[in-house]
Amino acid sequence: MNESYVIKMPQLSDTMTEGVVVSWEKQIGDKVARGDIVATVETDKAIMDVEVFREGYLSGPVAAVDSTVAVGEAIAYLVASREEVQGADGTAPGEAQEAEVFGEPETDAQGDLPNHTHVIKMPQLSDTMTEGVVVSWEKKPGEPIVRGDVVATVETDKAIMDVEVFREGYLSGPLAEVDSTVPVGHAMAYLVEKPEQVSDTLAKSHMAKPKAAPQQGAGREVTAPPAPSPAQSPAVEAAPAARPANKQATPYARKLAASLNVNLNNLKGSGPEGEVTAEDVRRAQPVARPTEVAEQVPAHVLPHVQVPGHGRPMNAMERAVSASMTASLTMPTFHVSINARPEALIKAAKRKGVSVTVAIAKACAEAIKAHPSINWAYQPVDKLVERDNVDIGMAVTAEGGGLVVPVLRGCESRPLEELNESWKGLVERARKRRLAPEEYANPTFMVSNMGMYGVSWFDAIPTPGTAAILAIAAATEQGMPLTITADHRVANGAEVAAYLNTLKGMIEQPESWMGPLGPAIPEGAWDYDVVVIGGGPGGEDCARDLAGHGLKVAMVNDAPLPGGECLWRGCIPSKAWRAAADRIRDRAHDALLGITGTNTAKLDWEKLEVHRRGVLEERGRMALNTDKGVRIKVLQGFAFFESEHRIFVDTSGNAEDPHARAPLGDASSGEHISFGCAVIATGAPPFVPPIPGAREGVASGGVLTSDTVWGLKAAPQRLGIIGGGAIGMEMAQIFQDFGTEVVLLEGKERVLAEVEPEIAKHLTEVLNADPNLTLHTSVKVRELKGEPGSMAMVFEDAEGAEQRFDCDYVLMATGKRPVLEPLQLDKAGVATDNGVIRADARCRTSVPHIFAVGDVIGGLMLAHTAGAQGRVAAATILGEEARYDEAKDSGVIFTRPEAGFVGLSMEQAKARGIDAAEVKVPLSIDAKAMITGETAGLIKLVAEKASGRIIGVHLLADHTDTLIGEAVLMVEGELTLQQVGNAIHPHPTQTELFGELARRLASRLRRSNKKR
Ligand SMILES: Cc1cc2nc3c(=O)[nH]c(=O)nc-3n(C[C@H](O)[C@H](O)[C@H](O)COP(=O)(O)OP(=O)(O)OC[C@H]3O[C@@H](n4cnc5c(N)ncnc54)[C@H](O)[C@@H]3O)c2cc1C
Repeated sequence: MNESYVIKMPQLSDTMTEGVVVSWEKQIGDKVARGDIVATVETDKAIMDVEVFREGYLSGPVAAVDSTVAVGEAIAYLVASREEVQGADGTAPGEAQEAEVFGEPETDAQGDLPNHTHVIKMPQLSDTMTEGVVVSWEKKPGEPIVRGDVVATVETDKAIMDVEVFREGYLSGPLAEVDSTVPVGHAMAYLVEKPEQVSDTLAKSHMAKPKAAPQQGAGREVTAPPAPSPAQSPAVEAAPAARPANKQATPYARKLAASLNVNLNNLKGSGPEGEVTAEDVRRAQPVARPTEVAEQVPAHVLPHVQVPGHGRPMNAMERAVSASMTASLTMPTFHVSINARPEALIKAAKRKGVSVTVAIAKACAEAIKAHPSINWAYQPVDKLVERDNVDIGMAVTAEGGGLVVPVLRGCESRPLEELNESWKGLVERARKRRLAPEEYANPTFMVSNMGMYGVSWFDAIPTPGTAAILAIAAATEQGMPLTITADHRVANGAEVAAYLNTLKGMIEQPESWMGPLGPAIPEGAWDYDVVVIGGGPGGEDCARDLAGHGLKVAMVNDAPLPGGECLWRGCIPSKAWRAAADRIRDRAHDALLGITGTNTAKLDWEKLEVHRRGVLEERGRMALNTDKGVRIKVLQGFAFFESEHRIFVDTSGNAEDPHARAPLGDASSGEHISFGCAVIATGAPPFVPPIPGAREGVASGGVLTSDTVWGLKAAPQRLGIIGGGAIGMEMAQIFQDFGTEVVLLEGKERVLAEVEPEIAKHLTEVLNADPNLTLHTSVKVRELKGEPGSMAMVFEDAEGAEQRFDCDYVLMATGKRPVLEPLQLDKAGVATDNGVIRADARCRTSVPHIFAVGDVIGGLMLAHTAGAQGRVAAATILGEEARYDEAKDSGVIFTRPEAGFVGLSMEQAKARGIDAAEVKVPLSIDAKAMITGETAGLIKLVAEKASGRIIGVHLLADHTDTLIGEAVLMVEGELTLQQVGNAIHPHPTQTELFGELARRLASRLRRSNKKR
């Protein structure tokens, strides 16, 4: 190089007239290669880098850091040799020409163009683009151009894209000919100031021209820039990546992006004003550059096959596909296939008004949530890119042939309807090959659908940068073959098989993720629209809601009156006993208020039992009358499935015993009933674990359960209880209040697993302080022995010492477990999971028209939970959107004080990734508690830090059963600390504590936020 070049302050934005030199990235005398960043300058918008597209040595005079230089003025020079380098303050080299600076349209280097002529260069429109083919000129020479005009379209290696110009002027030749290939950064046309300066010539020698076709009919020849040899271009020395659209990136970030193959357009910048930094690039995923990956393929894998005939050179897109497919040879892939029935998905997509392609993409993304590795990628060398965003590439045929693969982004989080709208636009642009880079770059998963071509099976090839591609063939009677080809370095066969099974479920049951698509009752001449099996809180609430909407509903219950466990053996009878125990317990507080002579309270067991039974029977009759009143057909008998649309209601009374059950089809002792939908609400009876002597004890009557304890003829003198759950704890204190000596054994370290840990701990202490009650945790029960009225519990205590408690009875309170076998679920195809019926948040089982609610599906086994789920099932059957959310459920343990919970504890919030804080107050400071002497306990609020949303309330307080109402509304209504703090609570009530807690936590969070 004998000439020197001037590096001018580039115009880096439309409005920029001058720039401040921020830094010199190269020192005087440094060798500068094409694409090097030599300096950064601050424009009127951001700090940007100055790239040079010439080779040479940086030479002075250079503009000082912090100096302001007008656009177009020299900031430094490039000279041909080290010897010619001038110092920072040296004299400018004589006849310096202008170096090509990125972003600045250059003046013609040939010197044969008028002054103030600007060059329109071939833009770099994708990471991998090195050249472009001129497809069309959208403006003619001489036409006036305004900022933002599209003057031409060019074909990159991926799509046809617009060339926009951000100057005003007149389009002038020499114009690169249509079909000619122009290297990135080279001139393709000019802009002149005046019409008389316009030249309408075609490109001269300094432009790439189309060459004569080598053969008749053959395509164009490519004038590619010389590829740098590997020695000249070590990884980090690569030319910087293209500037990201609409954001800034630091010079080093761009260099790093180039060397790591990272697409800057896809990155969120963590620098000032969203600038992409090198750290952002390091964290990012790579874009596999097909050609580079292909270069890593050993030569023997790419044999040079002699093919007779004259080959037409591939066009840019064909070359890109070829390179990418060759690169995929480096992937150790395998195939796994499954058949799925597509009818439900097709119907669902139609109902939602979305394309089946988009519905499949969304199903794929939903299934990926359960199997994230399908969406990862192998990154050379030996790294895995674990990504959360599911961006699905799906092939579309372009006009004139060839496949284009637009990428539908954010399939994991965006709603189906929004994805569908995006897809429409993508398809339209893809057909015309007018996709923007971010619309086709970096899919994380791919889908290839050839169902419409009637192919029976095929597999597709994943491209580097993805781990798997799904091939969809045409549906037959066996279903639609789905074949995944996967990269074994990322996912193994079992993972892919599990993924395909989940995907099959998503396709066959789209309601599970799309929501109800209308009433769930299939068309048919059913005896009943819906049959509800079980008349407890779950079944009753469901049946009443359905009947209220005019559906023909039957409710089968194997008891004369509805109400289930809750009414007959659970909530209501236990609270009757609790109420009696409360009266005895409260006498202790009388003296505090100056009332004497009342502590002689005595329990009359028989009277209590008459009252208790009376309440149950009256409520049972009331329930039956209501059920009949709302036109539910109430059938007494034991129901089991005969098929997926038929049950048999056995009225023999032996139905739970498979040996005594009426033979299928024998209608003499029962009734066959066909149904459109069924709801299983059969509850869960007490579970008796295999402790030596336990089952024998149950048989003899020495060991009681929550089903049989109601038969006691009197409060026992001494009672052993096994199990520190809600039932065990309530019963333990009730009987201690009745005067029974109670010992409770719990195997775990703590009682009440569903209750917030601090609340449970305090309750344990309070209960242990009761004179007749002892709680032991971390015990091993060795044996139960004896007979009714004279039993013994032998156990090993927390210290390992053997202990024995002699008692009248043992109450087994070791949880509840559904009994599923008699239901013959297999006849209907209903799946179970760990001993409960599998149901989703909409209470749907594995069979789309069969639902399950309440204790039979596990989780919180509580009456209001069952009721809420019953209403969710009813809404889903009616085609309405409803979900059960355990994170907003609640419960009360009716001890004294009562323990209660709504929503999440700190522990649970953390497990769900919620950054939360808690605040608590002891009851001992509350005026009302002091007056009545009910000072034991505390109340806690848990709130999400960022939003102040209250996500949990935990209570240990007398009157929790009423206090909790406000807490339930806080959590369900997603009230904030601010809202609860501002609410005017009446005085003197304990609800004031909620306001106080909310204000305290809000103020703490405000203070800690300020410090951050
Ligand atoms: C001692 C005790 C105290 C409790 N206290 C509380 C409390 O304070 N608060 C609370 O929320 N929860 C409490 N519970 C729990 C509550 O009782 C249950 O969670 C609730 O009853 C579950 O309702 P469900 O509808 O799922 O089932 P269930 O109430 O058990 O109802 C199921 C019904 O289906 C019938 N059935 C079963 N199989 C068939 C069949 N094949 N055909 C026909 N009918 C069938 C059963 O006989 C039963 O009537 C307590 C439980 C116990 C044992």
